[in-house]
Amino acid sequence: MLELFGFPGGIKPDSHKEESAGTPIRQAPLPPLLVVPFRQSATGGVDIRVKAGERVLKGQCIGSAEGPFGTCVHAPTSGTVIAIEARTLPHPSALAAPCAIIEADGADAWRERVPLDAYSADPETVRSRIREAGIVGLGGAVFPSHVKMNARIDTLVINGAECEPWITCDDRLMRERAPMIVAGAAIIRHLMGAKRVLFGIEDNKPDAAAAMRTALQTAGHPEMQVVTVPTRYPAGGEKQLIHVLTGIEIPYGKLGPDFGVQCFNVGTAHAVARAVLHDEPLISRIVTLAGNYAWPGNVETLIGTPIDALLALGEPKPDTDRIVMGGPMMGFVLPDTSLPVVKATNCLLAMSPTLFPPPPPEMPCIRCGACTRACPMLLQPHELYWYARSKNFGKTQEYHLFDCIECGCCAYVCPAHIPLVDYYRFAKSEIRAREREKAAADRARERYEFRKYREEREKAEKAARLAAKAAETKAKLAQEGAAAVIAAAQSRAHPEGKDEA
Ligand code: SF4
Ligand code: SF4
Repeated sequence: MLELFGFPGGIKPDSHKEESAGTPIRQAPLPPLLVVPFRQSATGGVDIRVKAGERVLKGQCIGSAEGPFGTCVHAPTSGTVIAIEARTLPHPSALAAPCAIIEADGADAWRERVPLDAYSADPETVRSRIREAGIVGLGGAVFPSHVKMNARIDTLVINGAECEPWITCDDRLMRERAPMIVAGAAIIRHLMGAKRVLFGIEDNKPDAAAAMRTALQTAGHPEMQVVTVPTRYPAGGEKQLIHVLTGIEIPYGKLGPDFGVQCFNVGTAHAVARAVLHDEPLISRIVTLAGNYAWPGNVETLIGTPIDALLALGEPKPDTDRIVMGGPMMGFVLPDTSLPVVKATNCLLAMSPTLFPPPPPEMPCIRCGACTRACPMLLQPHELYWYARSKNFGKTQEYHLFDCIECGCCAYVCPAHIPLVDYYRFAKSEIRAREREKAAADRARERYEFRKYREEREKAEKAARLAAKAAETKAKLAQEGAAAVIAAAQSRAHPEGKDEA
């Protein structure tokens, strides 16, 4: 029996899992038009590999990874790229970014697929396959998975905690596709040399835990273990789950591998197995439809599918007034439901005034300290709030603003109903914008200084060339003058027409 460790803070909101977890995963129909953003990972750029008018096959790479932190993007179905243009992304920033607009041909025809034997291939080949498959963390962070696999560890944690209320896509995945999750975990373990694998699942998902245990028994993996952890939000946070399962507290600025541990979501492990064993890149995901729907549940859908098409499957009730991407704690209200499903879309939560009444008006902070007690990252949320509110961003950083995982526990317990996370997001975006501006100004200054240096260097080179030329001319003239003197002397010594004696 594995000893469990509690993590600091946290809350116990109503889970509301049963509404969407009771029915099997449905397959979303193929939409006629897909909008595929070229950038869908937390880091790295993409080199666009298609042009408007080009035909593509399902699984074809349409954007290759730039740099070591990039991940590839693929056509989710066969068809024609009818345009490449900037479209608004389903992201809290609501910024636009380049997307491929693909008209599906209905054939859903795959490119050639070449399965890989993860255990006979060299580890670099397997990691490249995972990178080329565009796999990112499907728990919400969308960090490139191949980067996280580039370390040697003792313990691999597979995250099936799924702690946020209403969301059940990982629960259904574990119940229905446990053998593929185990296969993916085995590949990651092999790559990272882990001695043991711990599947962390909250104890409110007994069916998922049972399915995973059966899959482990069938596959015969004695080094792997399913561990049920107490239901407490945010037990599914990476650092929190590692803490609960291993007792390891990863401090600010450090990463799991510094302590011999790494964590991947169950959806990510499943995607790794599909990529390696079947050569299927990450072109689909499971999305929970929860909240104010006539037909809540989970739907497997292609990346790039318009969100409207999924909502039609769940049929939001007439009093629905918002759609949130993500859960009620960490999600954000979508500005527009015509936006596409992306790799980070784990849930589309339909909200109504009855299910999610508007919060009471914001009151002044009474410094009760409830937020500090609830914070799983041991931050001081009210101090962060004061400094963010007064735009003292330097101080927010001193108070470790960027260690905040935006879990929302502080806002949940705040008796003054202060939307604390909104203040933190505002401060973070301001700091990032200022850093971008500073980087742009630094680049402009460097360009100016280089141009000045180049102009001065060219001036000096020109002056040196002119001086060399003048010296050459002078030497030539001197030489010519000497020759003339000699010739005149010779002419005097030997008048014309007389032979030398
Ligand atoms: S919980 Fe709210 S009122 Fe209490 S200290 Fe924190 S921010 Fe202030
Ligand atoms: S949102 Fe940030 S500050 Fe608030 S409880 Fe979570 S980690 Fe702490």
